[in-house]
Amino acid sequence: MRFGLPETLAAALLATALLANCATNPVTGGQDFVMMSEADELRLGQKASAEVSEEYPEYRDPELQRYVNRVGQKLAGASHRPNIQYRFKVVDSPEINAFALPGGYVYVTRGILAYLDSEAELAAVIAHEIGHVTARHSVRQYSASMAAQIGASVVGIVVPELGSSGAQSVMGTMSDALLKGYGRDHELEADRLGAEYLARTGYDPQAMIQVVAVLKDQELFDAEIARSEGREPSAYHGLFATHPDNDTRLKEVVGAAGKYAKAATFEGKSDYQRVMDGLVFGDSPEQGIVRGSDLYHAELGFALQFPAGWRVKNAPDRAQASSPSRDAIMEMRLIEKPQGTPAETLRRGLRLAPGSAIETGSIHGLPAAFATYQQSSGRPVRAGVVLMGGNGYVIAGTAKSAAEFNRYLRNFDIAIRSFHRISDDERKLARPLRIKLYTAKKGDTFASLAKTSPLGKNAEGYLRLMNSAYPRGEPGPGQTLKIVE
Ligand SMILES: [Zn+2]
Repeated sequence: MRFGLPETLAAALLATALLANCATNPVTGGQDFVMMSEADELRLGQKASAEVSEEYPEYRDPELQRYVNRVGQKLAGASHRPNIQYRFKVVDSPEINAFALPGGYVYVTRGILAYLDSEAELAAVIAHEIGHVTARHSVRQYSASMAAQIGASVVGIVVPELGSSGAQSVMGTMSDALLKGYGRDHELEADRLGAEYLARTGYDPQAMIQVVAVLKDQELFDAEIARSEGREPSAYHGLFATHPDNDTRLKEVVGAAGKYAKAATFEGKSDYQRVMDGLVFGDSPEQGIVRGSDLYHAELGFALQFPAGWRVKNAPDRAQASSPSRDAIMEMRLIEKPQGTPAETLRRGLRLAPGSAIETGSIHGLPAAFATYQQSSGRPVRAGVVLMGGNGYVIAGTAKSAAEFNRYLRNFDIAIRSFHRISDDERKLARPLRIKLYTAKKGDTFASLAKTSPLGKNAEGYLRLMNSAYPRGEPGPGQTLKIVE
């Protein structure tokens, strides 16, 4: 959890971006009208990578990082831009995603790794991202979105006063492209280039199609569950949103890579499974674990209960919960090492007008302060701050309208007042789930394995997806499976 936003770079980068120049495209060799030289691209990538590491901390597993880097460097060496320095990183996020920054920074989430089932599939994801780098898609996208977004400002959802910096960050400007894809043509080009890099490094380029199929299935399955739970499905990388796995053009570009293929290809299934043994699945302890509507943060030492039935979304710098009918939301943020009393912390943190009414009190023996106020937009907010262990925690709730706000006020207060030091029993609940390798016995089915799985009522589908057996495959005796414990 972090407070505030990274330093803004928009102004400096705007100056850079306006120095438009024609650059040679590394893939086509032709002249490309992009508004950035290679030196500027590398600088932009470096600055953006600092922002990414705020939002997506590195996953702490040196062996896994080395493995992913080794696969990445091999592919990068066979790419159209072998001369730039690539960095491959696994980030500690349960999201299913991979993205690349200008200049050779490539990220994969630990969330996507759970659903891949061989080194060749991992290579396909990375090769696709290298394709975006070599074809300079993010540079082109950045140039376009800078023009569109100058002057826009970043605002938090509940408490904009906490996060507002008045200007756009590089991540904010690029995040649409980074996290949702670049549009169909660029995605197909990245697939084509990725398939070529796979073939040149001894992987079967068909792994590109397998990955699209696996992640497409995952997406459909998640959308089905989301519908049944009345929530929004998660957003995915454009690779999987822009084309189905039976797409003719995708098959064409992958097929064309066959001419670079080596005689023997490497799949690397058991290598991959071995490295994934122990990988955190779902929430991580560093960011707090969500169970139902409850948030347990063993590292910071607190627990909090959002209203029952609300959907909790946890991010490195905040936790948010929304009501089932999505007409009210709550947010919690950390204020590191605040100075002064709870009332002063609340007044400063929320930039309340001098003289605003603040009640002081305590929550489970911890010093606290509470206020009801209006945001500059006119939206009413109920907020509390509680001090514990040298840190402050702001917990706030707001609703669509004043009438809804009054209806939810009691829920907001109960949630704010549920903040407490984590107990020993709760610490046990705060343990993360992990991937474990399991050798299937005779008679095992995904349904029988699902019965003892902590993944709940959808476990059978998830286990199939993680083991290349969706929608109807079953394990054979002696087969190594990834399960979750
Ligand atoms: Zn892509």
